[in-house]
Amino acid sequence: MRCPFCGNIDTQVKDSRPAEDHVSIRRRRFCPACGGRFTTYERVQLRDLVVVKSNGRREDFDRDKLERSIRIALQKRPVEPERIDQMISGIVRRLESLGETDIQSKNVGEIVMESLARIDTVAYVRFASVYKNFQAADDFDKFVSELRPDSVTDNSEEE
Ligand SMILES: [Zn+2]
Repeated sequence: MRCPFCGNIDTQVKDSRPAEDHVSIRRRRFCPACGGRFTTYERVQLRDLVVVKSNGRREDFDRDKLERSIRIALQKRPVEPERIDQMISGIVRRLESLGETDIQSKNVGEIVMESLARIDTVAYVRFASVYKNFQAADDFDKFVSELRPDSVTDNSEEE
């Protein structure tokens, strides 16, 4: 990274840590040539992330689309908007931290389901039932019973 003060190319990273938004890495840099200090923020270019579907088709990762599907699953559920935002940011962060530009759509679905399971069981079931395309009722029952042990915290009605 070129020093913005003297143009020296050989600058040093003194410290790296996640920025407050947790979507970028904040680096404190030092220029040994002029003693200048500056900060850079490094973030993954989400446009570069490509989701690979099971049939091999590829499409650009679309955060809005991800967010829409999660909000549909959480419709009318008693979950605070901030928690939903946090969860979505967390999911995106996990996708970024995989360190690959190609992401299997299966992985995206699994990460979303894990996150939903922690926040709201009903939303989780809704999402999973669509995502996994459960067709046999017994599969669905099995699935629901599997998620009962640790994650059910309320007895809200399911639709
Ligand atoms: Zn410098």
